[in-house]
Order: sequence, then C-alpha cells, then structure tokens
Amino acid sequence: MHLADRLGRPLADLRLSVTDRCTLRCSYCMPEEEYRWLPRSDILRFEELVVLVQAFVECGVEDVRLTGGEPLLRKDLPRLVGMLRGVRGLRELSMTTNGILYAPLARELKDAGLDRVTISLDTLDPARFRALARRDGLDEVLSALEAARAVGMRGTKIDTVVLRGVNDDEILPLFEHARSLEAEIRYIEYMDVGGATQWSPDKVVPAAEILATIERAHGPARRVDVESRAPAKRHLLADGSVFGLVASTTRPFCSTCDRSRVTADGMWFHCLYATRGTNLRELLRAGAGTDDLRRAIVDGWRERADRGAESRLEQAQRGALAGRDDLLDNPHLEMHTRGG
Ligand code: SAM
Ligand code: SF4
Ligand code: SF4
Repeated sequence: MHLADRLGRPLADLRLSVTDRCTLRCSYCMPEEEYRWLPRSDILRFEELVVLVQAFVECGVEDVRLTGGEPLLRKDLPRLVGMLRGVRGLRELSMTTNGILYAPLARELKDAGLDRVTISLDTLDPARFRALARRDGLDEVLSALEAARAVGMRGTKIDTVVLRGVNDDEILPLFEHARSLEAEIRYIEYMDVGGATQWSPDKVVPAAEILATIERAHGPARRVDVESRAPAKRHLLADGSVFGLVASTTRPFCSTCDRSRVTADGMWFHCLYATRGTNLRELLRAGAGTDDLRRAIVDGWRERADRGAESRLEQAQRGALAGRDDLLDNPHLEMHTRGG
C-alpha cells in the first residue's frame, strides 16, 4: 500500500515498545527518582502485538524495531520475536537494547529470527557508566557486543548519546572500540525529548563537532547513502570504517521521517515530540480485526503533519520539553515509554 502523510512522507518504519520499565536510569532519559508506570493490565499481550504489527505491515511498514524501556525486561522476548517473524510481509525485525540482559539470550534471539541489534553504549569507563546510568553494568554491555558478534549477528550498531562535559572526550575511544568489534557506531545528539528534564542547549555536542573530532584523528570522511531516509548520516573513512551521525537536535530530518511509535500499552504516536496519540489498545480490545486497525492507521497517517524537532529548532528560547510533574501527569511523554 502506498500511504503518505500530509507532507508526502511514507509509513515505513515502526518502533514497537514492549515495556516502559528499564534496568538503567540514564541521565538523558530517566534522571528522576519517581516514575508513573503503565498499568500492567494495559500492556499488550504477544498475540495483540502480532495483530497490530500485521496491520502496520499491511499499511506499508517494512521494518519493525523492538524497544522500550528495556525490551529484554519483557519476559519471553524470544518467543515474541518468533511470533513477529511469522508476520507476512515484514522485511526486517531489529531491537534496540541497553545490552545488560542481552548476552545470555543472544543465540536464542537470533534463532528466533531477530535480524539486527543496536546496543547503546555511552562510555568505556566503569565509574562514568555508573554515574551516567545510575546502575552498574558496563561489563554486561561489553559482553553483549561480544555476544552479538559471536552468534553471527550482522549489521550490529552501537548508539552513543554525546553529552558536553560528560562523555565528549570518548568520541575516539568509542569509535576504536566499535571498529575492533566490526560494529558501526552512531553518535546521537542529546535531544530535548520528554524524559530529558535536565536538557539545555549547552549540553548538546553538535554532530558537526563530532565529525571534526573524528576527521582530525582519521582524515577526511565521505558521506555515503546520501539518499537514505535513515536518521543516521553515514560517513566512510579512507580505511573503510563507517560511522553515523544523528543530528536530531541541530539538523533535524523531519522532512524525510517515515517512522512512528507504538507504546507498550498500544498508544500510537506519529512523532517523538507528539503530545497526542491514538489508542490502538482500545480498538484491539473492542474486538477490532486487522481491517479495522488498518483503517485507523491509514486515517491517522494521512492526517500526520508532525515535524517536532524542526519546530523545536525554530524556538528562540529552548529548555527541556517537559518537567517532572508533566511527566508524572502524562507518562506517555517519556522517551522510555515511547521508545526512542
Ligand atoms: N533501553 C534501550 C536502549 O537504551 O537502547 C532502548 C530504549 S532507549 C529510549 C532508545 C534510544 O534512545 C537509546 O539509544 C538512547 O540512547 C536514546 N535516547 C534516550 N534519551 C535520549 C535523549 N534525550 N537524547 C538522545 N537520545 C536519547
Ligand atoms: Fe537508558 Fe534506554 Fe533505559 Fe532510557 S530506556 S534509561 S536510554 S537504557
Ligand atoms: Fe520524525 Fe518527529 Fe523525530 Fe521529526 S521529530 S524526525 S517528525 S519523530
């Protein structure tokens, strides 16, 4: 199906959050002490997720990425992977994880049909990891990267959020580490999304600065995949290594954004910054089949005009999107709820 929103953008990519819970408390995502969790009874069951994904695929979605919170906190995740692999027309099934629980499950997930994994890693220093994530776990994350390679996962990526004065001195060591594992690192600008209550413009390290740091050390980098709609702008170095830059704050890419998000309780959001979503859980639980869901998705996407990050960029005065009380009032605003 060729479906386009009001700005002519197709629907091709779905981020499917399977839980709002997390094993870490990263300072750029979950810096608060208190959270309002989604009610357990609202969390979609595997069978419901399959029906939903089938409807999205029939509307044009090709790639589904499991996320969270921490997706591996969801019990029996390999079983869900196997079930989603049975969805007709789904091209790629991937997962973004903080890696903590990944290594022991790496083989099972691959065998169940997971095509690719992205592992978040912001530092190689254990003390800094603890300060940044408010939990221990660096060894587990490093083991996760090893495990992905050991079980033969292809196209493994490392996602690194770069924060001024926190880990901007690790751009090169992280690059080296990724290269040694044959994984592709992607540096992400700190975004002022819900959950990032400590965001301020001075803490953002622009992608242009990250590029300059890498080029100073490794020589000129050439842009590749210029036509791609992916958020990461991939760059190739003379030695053949590739890295990505996600300039989500300084140079947003809303004009080509083909992705949307479903939270673990079935709320569909057209944009990371959207304040309103469509409650697909209610539809599902009222007995809707794939036809009804497809109609809701088509109608919703045709109305979509979101360009959240670009609108934020146009604001003269910019601070955190939401404060602690706003997030307690509306947990759907949280990045760990809508999945990144
Ligand atoms: N827990 C998993 C993980 O960390 O990989 C999956 C969910 S997490 C919300 C998905 C991605 O969002 C992670 O790569 C994380 O670094 C990124 N993220 C969270 N808050 C962010 C922020 N304020 N700015 C930029 N990226 C952010
Ligand atoms: Fe960190 Fe991901 Fe958990 Fe957010 S959801 S606190 S980014 S591990
Ligand atoms: Fe897409 Fe919204 Fe992000 Fe822009 S801000 S790239 S529209 S999700």
